[in-house]
Amino acid sequence: MKVSVPHMGHLHWMMDDLFERLEVEYVKPPPSTTKTLTIGAKHSPEFACLPLKINVGNYIEALETGADTLVMAGGHGPCRFGYYGIVEQRILLDLGYEFNFLMLEPFSDGALAFYKTFKSLSPGLTIPKLYRILKISFSKGRAFDYLYKRSLQVRAYEVNRGDTSRAIREAEQILTLARTPDEIEEAAREALAVVDAVEQDPDREVLKVCVVGEFFLLLEPFSNFGLEEILGHMDVYLERSVWVTDWIAPKRDNKVYGFPKKFVEEKAAPYLNHNVGGEGRETIGGIVLAAERGFDGIIQLLPFGCMPENIATSIIPKVQRDHDIPVLTLAFDEQTGRAGMVTRIEAFLDLLEARRKTGKTGTYVSYVSQKPSAAV
Ligand code: SF4
Repeated sequence: MKVSVPHMGHLHWMMDDLFERLEVEYVKPPPSTTKTLTIGAKHSPEFACLPLKINVGNYIEALETGADTLVMAGGHGPCRFGYYGIVEQRILLDLGYEFNFLMLEPFSDGALAFYKTFKSLSPGLTIPKLYRILKISFSKGRAFDYLYKRSLQVRAYEVNRGDTSRAIREAEQILTLARTPDEIEEAAREALAVVDAVEQDPDREVLKVCVVGEFFLLLEPFSNFGLEEILGHMDVYLERSVWVTDWIAPKRDNKVYGFPKKFVEEKAAPYLNHNVGGEGRETIGGIVLAAERGFDGIIQLLPFGCMPENIATSIIPKVQRDHDIPVLTLAFDEQTGRAGMVTRIEAFLDLLEARRKTGKTGTYVSYVSQKPSAAV
């Protein structure tokens, strides 16, 4: 059996570890490129969300590389994500591919179904063994998340452009080799130390921006033209509201972000007090929270036509007025160009600079969780 899952940001590090422990051959899809998107867009409905098109491209590239079993995360409404798996499967079958397709439904929807999906990949798997494997792989994934989170802040202060990105490549290699829980804990510290060792200019005046929005757009650098690196190289200190291990953690306590999902939802409640799917509610709560913490501005990312984020977008003008915080909304589809995005970002940063000069920004409050640990 050769298993593949769609490419999404840094998730592949955790998948590498997980499938190795499950003793399943993992076909890592090639990193998403323009070719991936072109293939996906060609075979997907025109109105489908951008992430679905990239997923389809990933699957086709993985099948062409030898994968015979595809896994997709399940979910449910109210947005289109709940239909992703079935739509993707139908597209691939219509194209004539032969494969097994497994939907991994959320643990909260039924522990037994969740276990059975893994057991179909690894027949001898017992529930205690699966629990142990998931715990270790998850802790490794979380250690990677802490690493990338730290890089978003260090990059703004780096003395030599590109040092943080180079340090991250080195840190990834340290972390990926760790196997046992103790080794992961130790490697997490060592990897963070590599990023922290980047030469920094602590006196540099940096703008502080929080990036919120739809899950996939936030996590997959290809889908947003490497926005975080671009902003870091413009001396912007960043925080992001969504992290992959926060998102899949059963309790949704958002340890990496530092603010539990429930707390963020409470912040959104005066404007949006029910689930609209995706991260719509978290986007509003994240903006309120960032405004209260003294960020200079917010950037919201969404796939063009994303229902939950469009609901959030319609509410944002009121949140902006109430909290006096600038928000830049960037929508992406396969027609979006990098140059246009960079121009809009530059204009937005000019605005934030001008506000600073007039003393419009409050005092920045650091995030609550800086724990450089891989502990679950
Ligand atoms: S959150 Fe938006 S982009 Fe993601 S599946 Fe739902 S509608 Fe599509």
